[in-house]
Amino acid sequence: MTSGSCACRYITYTTSKPPTYLVNCHCTTCRKQAGAPYQTWASFSADDIRWTTKPTEWRATDTATRSFCPRCGSIITMVLDRDPMSIDVAAGTLAEGETQIPPPSRHIFLQEKASWYHLPEDGAKRWDEWAPGLS
Ligand SMILES: [Zn+2]
Ligand SMILES: [Zn+2]
Repeated sequence: MTSGSCACRYITYTTSKPPTYLVNCHCTTCRKQAGAPYQTWASFSADDIRWTTKPTEWRATDTATRSFCPRCGSIITMVLDRDPMSIDVAAGTLAEGETQIPPPSRHIFLQEKASWYHLPEDGAKRWDEWAPGLS
């Protein structure tokens, strides 16, 4: 089992399986929402995730629905319109020590990377936009 929560623990979730992959997204929306150089997303099957309380949804673009905790503001999820069966969960919300979480395998949207951030050599593949095979 994998579980997680926002910073104030108002929003919690569980899944029966670990994430299929982690990806670091450097796009402007992820960067601004995270208040950080990038957002790490953990990808799950949408029908495998169970919520105690649903996070508040919003749309930054016409391609995806994002969500956050209405109490503490933690970033919670992103679901792409073109792939509603997958849900990206903010990896920082994952509980530690329950399941083996794979390290991020890709950096995406590096064409929008913060100029002040120096990306270290971490072995993850790099893409200017979407990575092939990621929906
Ligand atoms: Zn919260
Ligand atoms: Zn992004």
